[in-house]
Amino acid sequence: MSAVNPGAMRFAKVALKRLLFPLILFTRQRYRCVICGYFGPFAHKRTAKPLRSRLNAKCPSCGAMERHRFQWQILGDISKPSAWSEQSLLHFAPEPCLEERLRPRFRTYVSADLFRSNVDQQVDVRDLPFADNSFDVILCSMVLHYVEGYEGGLQEIYRVLKPGGFAMMPVPMIHEKTNDEPAKNSILKMVVEPGPDFYDRYKTIFDTVTICTSLDFSDELHFFLEQTDDHAFPMTLSHQKQADIIPVVFKAKPVVNLYATFPTQGQE
Ligand SMILES: [Zn+2]
Repeated sequence: MSAVNPGAMRFAKVALKRLLFPLILFTRQRYRCVICGYFGPFAHKRTAKPLRSRLNAKCPSCGAMERHRFQWQILGDISKPSAWSEQSLLHFAPEPCLEERLRPRFRTYVSADLFRSNVDQQVDVRDLPFADNSFDVILCSMVLHYVEGYEGGLQEIYRVLKPGGFAMMPVPMIHEKTNDEPAKNSILKMVVEPGPDFYDRYKTIFDTVTICTSLDFSDELHFFLEQTDDHAFPMTLSHQKQADIIPVVFKAKPVVNLYATFPTQGQE
């Protein structure tokens, strides 16, 4: 009996999903996936934790969730994919649907996580084993709110980022204002429960912070979050629909002083 090729199996499964989802759920709203190009209904995400359950969240073809697709869009808008083959990328807590597309396209791709073993580097974001100015792009999505002393992580990310490079470091928006002392028994288990003001803290370390919002993109791309229940999240657009934002932080290139090599007046 011949062995089944796992790659072929996966391809067949994806092809079947792409075909069947729009047929079975023909009455549902159709969306477009910016990662794989699928057009049709998205899958709901149901989990035991109601806060994490969302409607029309997942692309049935590539498995990307709203935030993955939004990040992919912003990454491509800021760093043109044609330049990736000359660039280096550090990817914390890598999402499989992004990793499989980014790894072969960047000149250097390093995946990293403190706990997972299926990454290139098992590292603590507060103490990175990389030289200064190592990476053109750093992705660190949905990580920092779980890190005690995350400020040290921000400083490390700044240190290993190349001048002219950028990082994307979104965290979930839980409150109108960041809560630095979450209840010990909170089911969220975050060391800080962020609000939009959390990104002001990035401004103390990075040279420029740009906030990208899902409101700037068509609803057809479904970058917004669609809760299954009413929750008082910040940036709520309607009773269940919530806008999303991605902060992009930049490390400036040093300013070249054209006159530095010339003697200043009175020093000849
Ligand atoms: Zn997709």
